[in-house]
Parts: sequence; C-alpha cells; structure tokens
Amino acid sequence: MHFKELQLNKPILRALAEKKYDNPTLVQERAIPLILAKHDVIASAQTGTGKTAAYALPILQLLFDKQDAAKKGRKIKSLIICPTRELAIQIEENFKSYSTHTKLKTGVVFGGASIEPQKQLLKKGVDILIATPGRLLDLHKQDFVNLSQIETLVLDEADLMLDMGFIDDVKKIERLCTKEKQVLLFSATMPHKVTELAKSILKDPKKVAVAPNSSASDTVHQVLYYTPKPNKIELCLHLLRRKIEGNILIFRRTKYGVEKLESSLLKNNFKASSLHGDKSQSDRQTALNQFKKGETNILIATDVAARGIDINDLDVVLNFDLPNIPETYVHRIGRTGRAGKTGIAYSLCAADEKKYVASIQRLILQDIPVEDEHPYPLDPSAKPQVHKKQGSKHRKGRKSEASKKKKKRWY
Ligand code: AMP
Repeated sequence: MHFKELQLNKPILRALAEKKYDNPTLVQERAIPLILAKHDVIASAQTGTGKTAAYALPILQLLFDKQDAAKKGRKIKSLIICPTRELAIQIEENFKSYSTHTKLKTGVVFGGASIEPQKQLLKKGVDILIATPGRLLDLHKQDFVNLSQIETLVLDEADLMLDMGFIDDVKKIERLCTKEKQVLLFSATMPHKVTELAKSILKDPKKVAVAPNSSASDTVHQVLYYTPKPNKIELCLHLLRRKIEGNILIFRRTKYGVEKLESSLLKNNFKASSLHGDKSQSDRQTALNQFKKGETNILIATDVAARGIDINDLDVVLNFDLPNIPETYVHRIGRTGRAGKTGIAYSLCAADEKKYVASIQRLILQDIPVEDEHPYPLDPSAKPQVHKKQGSKHRKGRKSEASKKKKKRWY
C-alpha cells in the first residue's frame, strides 16, 4: 500500500515524500482510515512501529481544512498526552515535520523546564498541543490552557502513564475536554488497568493491534549470560571489550545502577552517557543528543527514561539487569533489529533473576539461547529449566512447543 491510498492531502504527502517514507507501516495502514472516519481507537503498538505518525497524520488531515480559520485566536484542537518529556519533544518533532507544508501550529509543554516560555507559547496559540499530564494541569490551573475546543485527545504510551501514577491526572484532563471529542489510546501493552481506563473514556472504540514483539524476536538475536551479581560489571566490561560493537543501549533497573555503571564505563575509557529521571531535562537531552550524534556509543538508561525514545540504528541492547515485568524485556529488545536490520540483545542474569527469565520465556514463547563461554559463569547446575519436558534443546534456543501454538495477543 502507498500513502496516497490513505487519502491524505498533498501537503502531508509532500512532507512524507521528503522524509522518504514510501509506504505506511502496519499500524498506520490500520489506524489512519479509522481515525479519519472519526472513530475512537485503541491501539496496541510500541515505539518503533510508526505509531506516532499513525495518529499524527490523520489528525493533521482532519485539522487541515480548518487551518485558515485558525489565524486569529488559535484554539487547541488536538491534545496529545504522554508520560515523559523526551517523548513529548519527539512527538512534537514528528508533528512539525509532517505539517511543514501546512499552516497548522504545534506546541509542547512538559515539566522539569521553565513554565514561562510555555505560557507565552499558549498565549500565542497552537492547534496541536503535546503535553505531559502534570504540567498541563498546572498550566490549566493558571488559566493558560483552554481545552473546550478539543476535537481529538490522544493518550500515548498509556500503560507507562498509568505505571507512573498519572491515572487521576489523565482522567481529570479527559473531563476538561469536550464530551464529543474523539479519543485515541495508544499503548505498548494492554494490562487490565489500561483496558479499564479505555472502557471508561472511549466510545465504541475500534481496535488496532500490531505484533512488534514477534517481528522483534525474528530480527533480534538474543543471548543470555548467567553470572553472579557481583561479577556483572566485569562481565559487561569483558563483553564491551571483546564482543559488543556499535551503538549500545544498556538497561538498568535503578537510577543508582545507571550512575554506577556509567562511572565504571567512563573509568575504563568507554564513551558512555546516561538517562534517568533524576537528571535535569537539559542533561537528559544532552546525553540523548551525544548518543544520536555518535559522540558516545553507549547509552545507559532506566526503562522509564528510555521508554518512547526513538533511537535509530541501535546495534545492541544489553540488559544489565533483567526486568521483573516480561513485557518490558520485549520493549527493550524491540529497540534493536528495526527496519529490516538485525540486532543483538544480550542479557546478564544473576541467580535471583532466574525467575524473570522463566516469565520472559513464557511470554515470548521461546527459550533464550545461553552463552556459557565466558570468564564469570554461574554454577551451571543452577540454570532454570522452564519447559522441563523439552530437555536440553532449549538452551540452544530452539523454538519450544509453546511457540508453535502462538497465542493471539494484543501487541
Ligand atoms: P514511532 O514508532 O512513531 O516512534 O516511529 C519510529 C520511527 O519510524 C520514527 O523514526 C519515524 O520517523 C519512522 N517512521 C514512521 N512511519 C514511517 C514510515 N511509514 N516509513 C518509514 N519510517 C517511518
């Protein structure tokens, strides 16, 4: 399918051609016609699937006809709520590039930055506003935001927003918008609390599901290293010296862990930078820019800091700590092996993380191949046997019986 078949206006098609997007991605192909037809949509799609354009393009298309009327006293007509500042900035960049040949104006507001320029922006008026929930409510309380003309409300990365405790803010924002608005909910995963939220605010929504995790696991070569926890840093340094090349995103569970690893890598002359929630907005942006420009090739991050950030050309994801939520593993490794390329995901597993490996393997319906050849092994007899009946085949990473009967899932 070509974008032309999605009935988008010429200025939007021109912007897409300039970005060299030839064909819509799956989520775009499915979501764009539904959004143009003014349906509420609940979509399970994670970063990397093209989900931002899946809602940005039809929103711009729907607003396009109203752009001239907007000259005096622009009112916010589309509101996109997302959990983090980085994601908000990235969404704004997307909207700006797709609307470059229109007169529509996009703005972004987020916490952790001075509120004054954001007030000025809102005074001048925007058609499309991207916001993190807390700052939006602050600005609303101070009477700088009028949500009475909202035609489309987007909740992006809804699962993360709820994980971060924004549920009440999100509900409050929804109530401040007009009753007649169209609501679009995008979420990487669909846990119960997200479907409950969807039930309470979406009207007869159409569902869109794409399956990035299976495509991710097809293009991502996964490797598991068992090692005692105190040896993880040594093993990480060993892998970085001897095995891992290219652009590497390393995940750690805690901010403290991120800092500790960053200082070890810097001491060992690696070019590393880091992202976590306690860093100032400008430090986070600097770290991200350094990595994107190639000034550093290692970025260490917590899940929350990294979620939603689109980093192209990632060669390797290294799970220094394994996540306790199996879906998080899928998100993490899905950051490599994109756009037809192959990627590698290494995971370091200490004895107390074996239970996480078991749940990850159950979720991805395959066993992660184990690499035994390294200087810091864990007692080999202590490895988990998730699918006992399958015997040793699994350690070699062959697909299990379970993988043959893949369940139909949301993502
Ligand atoms: P997202 O999932 O929205 O974060 O998008 C992931 C990346 O894919 C971004 O760098 C987009 O600019 C890019 N992208 C989105 N749609 C397309 C498309 N149809 N063709 C090529 N690249 C795209």
